[in-house]
Amino acid sequence: MFRSPVGCLFLLSAFAACNPTGNETAPDAGSADAGFTVGAKDRLLLQGTVVTPWEAFDGQVLVEGSRITCVAPGSACEEAPGAPGATRIDTGGVIAPGLVDTHNHILFDVFDGDDWTPSRTYRNHNEWTSEPGYQAMLEVKHCLSDDSQGKPGWCAQTPYGTATGSLRCEMDKFGELKGLIAGTTSIVGLAGTSGACFGSLARSIDTGANGLGSDRVRTSALFPPSAATATSVCGAFADGGVNAFLVHCGEGTDVAALNEYATLGALGAGCLKAPQTTLTHGTAFGSNELSDMASHGVRLTWSPRSNASLYGDTANIPGARAAGVQVALGPDWSMGGSQNLPEELRFAQAWDTSHWNGSLTPQDLVVMATANGAAVVGQSQQLGQLAVGFLADLFVVRGDRQNPNQAIVEATPRTVALVLVGGVVQYGDELWRDAAASPDDCEALDVCGSPKVLCMAVPDGGAKLSQTWTDVSTALGNAMDVVDTARDAGDGRHYAPLPPLVTCGY
Ligand SMILES: [Zn+2]
Repeated sequence: MFRSPVGCLFLLSAFAACNPTGNETAPDAGSADAGFTVGAKDRLLLQGTVVTPWEAFDGQVLVEGSRITCVAPGSACEEAPGAPGATRIDTGGVIAPGLVDTHNHILFDVFDGDDWTPSRTYRNHNEWTSEPGYQAMLEVKHCLSDDSQGKPGWCAQTPYGTATGSLRCEMDKFGELKGLIAGTTSIVGLAGTSGACFGSLARSIDTGANGLGSDRVRTSALFPPSAATATSVCGAFADGGVNAFLVHCGEGTDVAALNEYATLGALGAGCLKAPQTTLTHGTAFGSNELSDMASHGVRLTWSPRSNASLYGDTANIPGARAAGVQVALGPDWSMGGSQNLPEELRFAQAWDTSHWNGSLTPQDLVVMATANGAAVVGQSQQLGQLAVGFLADLFVVRGDRQNPNQAIVEATPRTVALVLVGGVVQYGDELWRDAAASPDDCEALDVCGSPKVLCMAVPDGGAKLSQTWTDVSTALGNAMDVVDTARDAGDGRHYAPLPPLVTCGY
């Protein structure tokens, strides 16, 4: 990209790095010759090391509108009809499918380990939910998001515990953004009710605002789901209204957690043992349960860091894979879990090395976080891969192009250089701001010292879609102060300040 010296000076003073010749260089660029040419805003030709994730090669990805229209080695996409006149970026990095987070409690992402952490090693999920510290944090969440149940008395002294005062939109956006800047483009957030305001960042894929035209994902964060839920879900499996059911099961290490598998299997005459079902956690499962899951096509979502934090152990992933169970990944939440999905990938890799003798390759881990995640949410025909016809949910990360899957595992919001959701530039290096559809509507964001651009606000979007990051972070930050004053519980607990989107230095 060429800018006049005046433009460069403006950018220098505002956000970007420029050198005296007027040529811009990416702050973290692996090579200084990364090319950038602004052309058509609805067509983007990316060059770099492509991870599909089934194979990796130096090549190109062409995006037209919301879809991928070419993926090929070398410069073969130059010949595609949509290539001439497209915006072009020689990324100098790794181009990967957007990560699919299959387990998060997104409205809890405004908390971190300062707000609650496990006080000991538990045996099942019923042992920590009654702890005073957890209950106090839960009350804050109920108040801020105006949950239908569980609002504490002090909430009435705040503006939040009402339909108009609710910060549910801001909380969901915070969680979506926390994932987005780390390359995550779809999140199972278990947010409960949906809202149009959820639709401007990563896909809250288990809501109607997922940008897919319909929500065919059902979830159950509590165990066991009711018999009525099982009957309803299985009926919707049959008529196609639901193609993914995600349920917490087997969370813990004792017999109570193990027995959840039999309990789930008995619901609805066993109809939930189906290829649409994914069990979240499964830490208690042995070879019998894993074999039975495989025989019914039931998948597993793995959250190793959260499991280790709460229970001192995690699911038997080598056993699950040997049995034929497909495994996906999710960080669960930040109170003992990871900040984002790549951080969870790194924990998974370290756990595999120390406990399972390195049974998982970097590609295995990337497949879990992309193609397998897409299968878990019933979207394996259009998400989780770089392939022609798939939605252009993808990201670029700077790192070792000779080991591109490992570069994905090591991604951080600082090294993630570009994120597209449905072909729309939402986050990336400031250097590439003009690749966005409306660059002036994007905001500058400093991420661990790296100048980034965030395209979050939908001008005139209404329903809080027009909020900027500044709007959202200010509202949430103020809310934590208000909550601390309103609680005045004398228990020493406080929730301000709002945690950062990312903790730097890792
Ligand atoms: Zn969970």
